[in-house]
Amino acid sequence: MALPLMLVPIPPSVASSDATVELEDVTKSYGVGATATLALDGISLRVATGEFLCLVGASGCGKSTLLNLVAGLDRPTSGTVRVSGGAALMFQDPALFPWLTVEQNVDFPLLMRRLPKLDRRRRVADLLEMVRLDDFARRRPHELSGGMRQRVALARALAQESPVLLMDEPFGALDAMTRDLLHDEIERVWRQAGLTVVFVTHNVREAVRLGDRVIVLSSRPGRIAAEYHVDLPRPRHIDSTENAELAAEITEQLRALGRPAAPA
Ligand code: ADP
Ligand code: MG
Repeated sequence: MALPLMLVPIPPSVASSDATVELEDVTKSYGVGATATLALDGISLRVATGEFLCLVGASGCGKSTLLNLVAGLDRPTSGTVRVSGGAALMFQDPALFPWLTVEQNVDFPLLMRRLPKLDRRRRVADLLEMVRLDDFARRRPHELSGGMRQRVALARALAQESPVLLMDEPFGALDAMTRDLLHDEIERVWRQAGLTVVFVTHNVREAVRLGDRVIVLSSRPGRIAAEYHVDLPRPRHIDSTENAELAAEITEQLRALGRPAAPA
């Protein structure tokens, strides 16, 4: 079937010269012997500096495994993972410290890095302004909505000042309206902070809404099954016709892989 111009599959071997994240023939298995699970198989991937890359695939296909390898939380069974400048990781669960205020949560990575107090105060104020929570600095997490908590988690991840931001289904637990707002926010922050983002989701529309490129992972074992450039102009809307059409194409691809992801 002919694909529209907007959605051009490109060969996985196409490499950018200024890659910030590089995976070379990465394999990851859990356990040993007959009960071993091959989670990732032969993943080669380059993420260009400043790129917004989305990874989609069915539940259990190895998305979190891949992000954890990039974050350095785990090591590949074989192959190499290279990240220039370090990566910060954000999960679906904001995992804030409930006994700390919003500003203390954001300050935490700065405190760990032993930055001077005045410097920290200024950076925390800047970060809270960036995620539009400056009026909530003294609140505690339980006083905030789900979307606000995720923005605190985002500010805390940004406080690590890593050039790479890894997001593991960060908006999966939010209602659609809050999620749409956070799509606008993360797009703005990505541009403003000049980040390289690797964003994992099982929601194909979300991937098309956000990504410069969408990579489709197959399940058991996780392999790169397809790769798409998304050339739709920004800002995009998740429910626009163009967005929905591209998402439908990719969802078809996922269905062809055997196990459907969440409906687009
Ligand atoms: P996804 O994030 O796409 O849902 P995961 O990366 O969490 O997928 O999991 C990929 C596969 O690896 C699954 O089969 C899962 O059960 C397995 N797996 C993940 N983490 C572990 C672990 N710590 N020990 C054993 N198996 C694991
Ligand atoms: Mg996961």
